[in-house]
Amino acid sequence: AAHQETHGFQTEVKQLLNLMIHSLYSNKEIFLRELVSNAADAADKLRFKALENDALYEDDGELNVKISVDKEASTITIADNGIGMTRDEVITNLGTIAKSGTKDFFSKLSGDSAKDSQLIGQFGVGFYSAFIVADKVTVRTRAAGESADQGVEWISNGEGEFTVADINKPGRGTEITLHLREDEKEFADTWRLRSIVSKYSDHISIPVQMWKDEVPERDGPDGEKIAAEPGQWESVNKATALWTRDKSEISDEEYKEFYKHVSHDFADPLTWAHNKVEGKTEYTSLLYIPSKAPFDLWNREQSHGLKLYVQRVFIMDDAEQFMPTYLRFVKGLLDSNDLPLNVSREILQDNKITQALRQGCTKRVLQMLEKMAKNDAEQYQKFWNEFGNVLKEGPAEDFSNREKIAGLLRFASSHNDSDAQTVSLDDYIGRMKEGQEKIYYVTADSYQAAKTSPHLEIFRKKGIEVLLLGERIDEWLMSHLTEYKEKSFQSISKGNLDLGDLEDEDTKKAQEEAEKEVEGVLERAKTALGERVEDVKFTHRLTDSPACIVADEHGMSTQMVKLMQAAGQ
Ligand code: ADP
Ligand code: MG
Repeated sequence: AAHQETHGFQTEVKQLLNLMIHSLYSNKEIFLRELVSNAADAADKLRFKALENDALYEDDGELNVKISVDKEASTITIADNGIGMTRDEVITNLGTIAKSGTKDFFSKLSGDSAKDSQLIGQFGVGFYSAFIVADKVTVRTRAAGESADQGVEWISNGEGEFTVADINKPGRGTEITLHLREDEKEFADTWRLRSIVSKYSDHISIPVQMWKDEVPERDGPDGEKIAAEPGQWESVNKATALWTRDKSEISDEEYKEFYKHVSHDFADPLTWAHNKVEGKTEYTSLLYIPSKAPFDLWNREQSHGLKLYVQRVFIMDDAEQFMPTYLRFVKGLLDSNDLPLNVSREILQDNKITQALRQGCTKRVLQMLEKMAKNDAEQYQKFWNEFGNVLKEGPAEDFSNREKIAGLLRFASSHNDSDAQTVSLDDYIGRMKEGQEKIYYVTADSYQAAKTSPHLEIFRKKGIEVLLLGERIDEWLMSHLTEYKEKSFQSISKGNLDLGDLEDEDTKKAQEEAEKEVEGVLERAKTALGERVEDVKFTHRLTDSPACIVADEHGMSTQMVKLMQAAGQ
């Protein structure tokens, strides 16, 4: 072939291929889902580009995917008339992994295939999953808007390298042929493929078609003749955008498969919310909470956000403007009737409609989490363990929803014996002592340090619960959380601790007497410490330790000072 070159796969691709073939054997059929999903994405991308340039349709505007089988040759071909790829795009898209989090993913692999197959599921498999069932894959593609001689052929056996060559391809789009492995020939079967499509790809919004052979003329039950049916392409899926359908007609399975398509995730979502909003702003949102945090949750450049559609037309992936940062784990889509079709990221940035949509979506997610917390504590705990630390950014970022977010927080507590963050503020308030007005907490470097804080002693003695905060983000969180349900928060390591009505009169007297007895000690400590401290005071908060350091009520806590130091301030 013309202009043929051989390229090596990026190291990570080789690793991924190897891993996939050896760990996904129990889930082979997902290759078809991945390839159909890509074809649907390619159709979306073409529609979007054609908004500005109708000519890209080249008189072939009925976008679809066609799956065909050649039993004798043991091949399956998946062909679309979507956006296609140029030679450069082929080399990058089918030779490297562009995904963010790739480095983290590979650093987490253990070599234990059971564990790794879990990880790979989280990472997502995509195009390369073709090699689970094929020992040779041919991709023939031509980008929309290019001439027929700009076609490209990519061939690989999925080992170390691939070839690319120029070809002539009159039809726009991408055609992928899988040469099935010796022991995977069962897939070269129309019925088998049909059932896989209806299992995984029913929700795809363009027609997924398979060839139906001609039916010859035949006799009916009463001897009448039934006319022959010609062979034809037949749609095997519903081919309507899932989110436009009525909620009551969509099964959980369909929602789950759709999630995998929009999120490129492999695992099932934890939960979802599908809403149609009518009135001043009109939109449909379908929002999912994943079951696992992505590898790059803490990477600032991580791509996140919703898939944006305007009046059913795909506009962009990762539209960040519709979700606050503390909900960046949410996946899904938004279909707006109000935004213009030619909307760009810049227009979205500073836009009234965007703001309304963002508020609406934020509210939905918080409601969805509240519902989960209320109805399924176990599932909520799973969510919290994966994403709790992200949600803790909420009170600082989203003032108006502070109370709602606070209600969703979970803490470790002196009430329990483990570091598990399971206690809600409502649990805490429900257990408050008679006369207790504040929510007490302590922040430290770790759960262990919080748990053994000398400040806790008096609370233990009095049986008052204290929230134990040992995560890095906790100090930041607490500096933005002043009250919940009209109860204010009180750090037990800050300033003069007034236990208010919790102190009884007799103790107070005894304390005053005790203070008089050791007055001299205070003066001596003050002189010895000099400028290094602001003040030395008596405290009755300690029962076992002789002394402890406290931060000024209004100043930075010792934890915050450490945080600032770590940040180089
Ligand atoms: P993902 O779909 O998560 O981006 P994949 O591994 O499935 O990752 O695909 C890699 C890339 O290859 C896609 O992002 C896309 O750019 C390109 N690609 C794959 N299949 C097609 C197709 N049928 N038409 C056009 N481009 C495709
Ligand atoms: Mg894909």
